[in-house]
Amino acid sequence: MFEKVLIANRGEIALRIHRACREMGIATVAVHSTADADAMHVRLADESVCIGPPPSSKSYLNIPAILSSATLTGADAIHPGVGFLSENARFAEMVEEHGITFIGPTSEHIAMMGDKVRAKVAAKELGLPVVPGSEGAVTSFEDARSIAGDAGYPVLIKASAGGGGRGMKVARNEGELQDAYRMARNEAKSAFGNDEVYLEKYLQKPRHIEVQILADGKGGAIHMGERDCSLQRRHQKVLEEALSPALNAEERHRIGEIARQAILKMGYESAGTLEFLYEDGEFFFIEMNTRLQVEHPISEAITGIDLVREQIRVAAGHPLPFSQEDVSFSGHAVECRINAEHPKTFAPSPGQIKEYHPPGGLGVRVDSAIFGGYRVPPHYDSLIAKLVVHGQTRNECLMRLRRALGEMVIEGIETTLPLHRDLVNDPDFINGDYDIHWLEHWMGERD
Ligand code: ADP
Repeated sequence: MFEKVLIANRGEIALRIHRACREMGIATVAVHSTADADAMHVRLADESVCIGPPPSSKSYLNIPAILSSATLTGADAIHPGVGFLSENARFAEMVEEHGITFIGPTSEHIAMMGDKVRAKVAAKELGLPVVPGSEGAVTSFEDARSIAGDAGYPVLIKASAGGGGRGMKVARNEGELQDAYRMARNEAKSAFGNDEVYLEKYLQKPRHIEVQILADGKGGAIHMGERDCSLQRRHQKVLEEALSPALNAEERHRIGEIARQAILKMGYESAGTLEFLYEDGEFFFIEMNTRLQVEHPISEAITGIDLVREQIRVAAGHPLPFSQEDVSFSGHAVECRINAEHPKTFAPSPGQIKEYHPPGGLGVRVDSAIFGGYRVPPHYDSLIAKLVVHGQTRNECLMRLRRALGEMVIEGIETTLPLHRDLVNDPDFINGDYDIHWLEHWMGERD
């Protein structure tokens, strides 16, 4: 097993990884920007190294500084967390070139899934159902027009290098296609430096269903059921639940097995997520995330499996200690993402937290790196806490979630807590009756 792991991240996820390491008897190295000198992950880690000034490009994305910190401290592995360098194939490769283990999949798998056109072609070969559309990149407007004609409108133009919903444009008819094609390419070019795009049928009222998988690259692979992440604002997830209230047992088993077989065929190693859109009983693969995800705790809650611990064990060369038959789903879990943002305008709200009281009690988990007096820096993602609640049934889970949201206090800055308090009392949400557009409509009506 590793003796020392460097955590190349910040905030709650850095703390999450530190906790897994500490429970495994592994020493931790925190890296941080000057803005995070007094952060909780820095305080709790065994060692810490300052890697640069506040902007991420100069600190958390600063590969030379991170690699030299690992070498200086004698870390034998690096966990990239989520975001930042977690899906950077070149980084994974460089870590390995330095004789350090990258806790994650191979750089080849990261590169393959990071290019959405390649990923979709690979997905099809792996037996995953995909959204109808272009067979690869769309190379001209004429090409786009003929494929859109075959797929049927509305269609979506998506960037090969896409992420965070950028570089995606809907065309409802042929008249809109030219602008959508041009705008998607321009946006992709400026956001990712790559204007390659592809075309998909635009599904009208799908749910976002993703399957958590875990594999050791040695023939051991499991799926941990699905998460329903349909509640999104501008393609950003707001609240997630596991299992999905929309799937029946047969559908769950079917998509879980398809995902498991696909990663076995790939020879994938580590944790990962296969994202699908689900409409009228059918699943359509959209992308694979080759990393841990923000919402992983709800899958942990229903299976009792510590995903970070297993990622570390697998990276150290151990086979998975369980097979699919050993995985069972117990109860229901929901995660609320609490952001330092105004609950209606979503304007960022950095600043000092005057008072902080996290909720507790049976089935309540708060993953957060904040504390009373902490200053939320303006430079990074606005996620400051994840409230994860588990109950024996969905109803018990929601009753407990309302109770926990009622107890939670974060004062001094604006947060999205009020949004969650309203959301969990909405009849459609309570009935599990929502698709990927529902939240934005609901927010529009709320104003
Ligand atoms: P990104 O990597 O930019 O997040 P995704 O491919 O994961 O892009 O898509 C993000 C979101 O966009 C999905 O969760 C879904 O809400 C929407 N979306 C993507 N593809 C389609 C599609 N073919 N039809 C309808 N909505 C889609």
